Amino acid sequence: MKFKRMRFLVVIMMVGLMSCKSNSQQTTPTTDPNASEASTTNIEETSFVNSKGETIEKIIKTPEEWKNDLTKMEFYVLREKGTERSFTGDLLKNKKEGVYTCGACNLELFASDTKFKSGTGWPSFYEPIDKTHILEDTDYKIGYARTEVLCNRCGGHLGHVFPDGPEPTGLRYCINSVSLNFKEK
Ligand SMILES: [Zn+2]
Repeated sequence: MKFKRMRFLVVIMMVGLMSCKSNSQQTTPTTDPNASEASTTNIEETSFVNSKGETIEKIIKTPEEWKNDLTKMEFYVLREKGTERSFTGDLLKNKKEGVYTCGACNLELFASDTKFKSGTGWPSFYEPIDKTHILEDTDYKIGYARTEVLCNRCGGHLGHVFPDGPEPTGLRYCINSVSLNFKEK
């Protein structure tokens, strides 16, 4: 008789513990800190309209899918925001006429006539082919604020933009060569 009552008590305690657990799980989504972060950039939108009025669908893939589609170096720079060593990129000294596209999704990013020799060791441009094709974000990775530039279609990391470029914009888009493909005219 005494044994039976104890078993009953244990069952009651277990039910109590389980319900506590499920209560705490239910409250998690309302305190999600990422919920407010998403609205500060438009990276979460599923499409955007460019300057020509074309609707461009964003490309959203899991890290595993990107790993399959990209080389190790492309994945490191484009998806993990790495930087290639200066003076090592294939497109650094490219002087051909054409269009530079995103290394991950091939969205057109820079025209060859806006490329200039910056001496930094990374391909440099004074303006993007379409401002809406580029997304900007603030990056504090090396201790001070820099403006990171990303592809607006796939969110791929391209490089940074600095206010010390040539005329007519005064901007220097410092882009990893590995983040770019080149389409010759
Ligand atoms: Zn892209």
